[in-house]
Amino acid sequence: MGMHTRITEMLEIEHPIVQGGMQWVGLAELASAVSNAGGLGILTGLTQPTPEDLIKEIERCRGMTDKPFGVNLTILPTIKPVPYEAYAQAIVDSGVKIVETAGRNPEPFLPLFKEAGITVIHKCTSIRHSLKAEKIGCDMVSVDGFECAGHPGEDDVTNMILLPIAARLLNIPFLASGGLGDGRGLAAALAMGADGINMGTRFMVTKEAPIHEKVKQRMVEASELDTSLIYRTLRNTARVFKNSIAEKVIEIESRSGETKFEDIQPLVQGAKGRDLFDSGDLDQGIWSAGMVVGLIDDIPTVQELISRIVTEAEGIIKERLVKAVSA
Ligand code: NAD
Repeated sequence: MGMHTRITEMLEIEHPIVQGGMQWVGLAELASAVSNAGGLGILTGLTQPTPEDLIKEIERCRGMTDKPFGVNLTILPTIKPVPYEAYAQAIVDSGVKIVETAGRNPEPFLPLFKEAGITVIHKCTSIRHSLKAEKIGCDMVSVDGFECAGHPGEDDVTNMILLPIAARLLNIPFLASGGLGDGRGLAAALAMGADGINMGTRFMVTKEAPIHEKVKQRMVEASELDTSLIYRTLRNTARVFKNSIAEKVIEIESRSGETKFEDIQPLVQGAKGRDLFDSGDLDQGIWSAGMVVGLIDDIPTVQELISRIVTEAEGIIKERLVKAVSA
């Protein structure tokens, strides 16, 4: 029983399901729950205010699971400068063996990670970045379609196209990321050549996710139309939940003349998103959410969610798909 792919083998996990890095959400509670349920949990590096705090969070996570887990390092524009080298060194010093990099080219960090025997998964929103990641020595990539939460890049290509091209061109294993939230998605991703799936938004709507119940409930109620694209004019596009703040940002961006980040900074600063997750005040800031909110209609435990997705995918593969070719 169970699914075996290159990714379950390389990451030494039971199910081909990885939890993506999520700012303010990737704490030990969620990452350990995903790992304990047989997937791969990921702590978000920059959610910790300093590299020393990250080392403590990794220790806390080790106290909650004896299964493998990873750390996300996102390299994108930030309001305050981030000491990326110190975060990378903290990851190495902590002995964590899996890193998910995202955003800019992770090449400067690869010698450090490779020297420490770390498996590097780079999140890519395009085929050219996936090929580059393979070329510079990343062990696998997470192919992030336009459906995804957070930063989908500027090409606007969905996973129906990205995944089959990735399957044709890549030699290293890859995860399908963006739009994944159920067994149909897992079966489809495997059929399109992926070795597993990466989920973010779906894991936000679980009992263990460390965010306010009202945020989870709002995502349960939401449809696939409830996300907005902001920062398009700054070429740092982000898909966030559609609320009054996202609409305000879009309105400012639509004004004539060039948008300056300073014009929207007070609305979008990450700290306000963190406060929103704590308070449940849904218009206090912005929060990342993918189109997959349209597929979410309950708040299960992580264990229930992962078991359900795997069982559903196995059922589709063994019954529906086998029947389709045996008639
Ligand atoms: P923050 O408070 O520093 O910035 C808030 C948002 O503004 C972020 O999306 C950031 O990319 C953007 N931003 C900052 N300076 C900018 C500039 N000069 N021009 C254009 N955009 C700018 O960020 P945070 O919320 O503390 O998050 C920390 C890091 O994690 C950021 O790099 C952020 O992009 C990233 N992040 C990624 C995802 C994702 O892709 N899933 C989700 C949330 C945050």
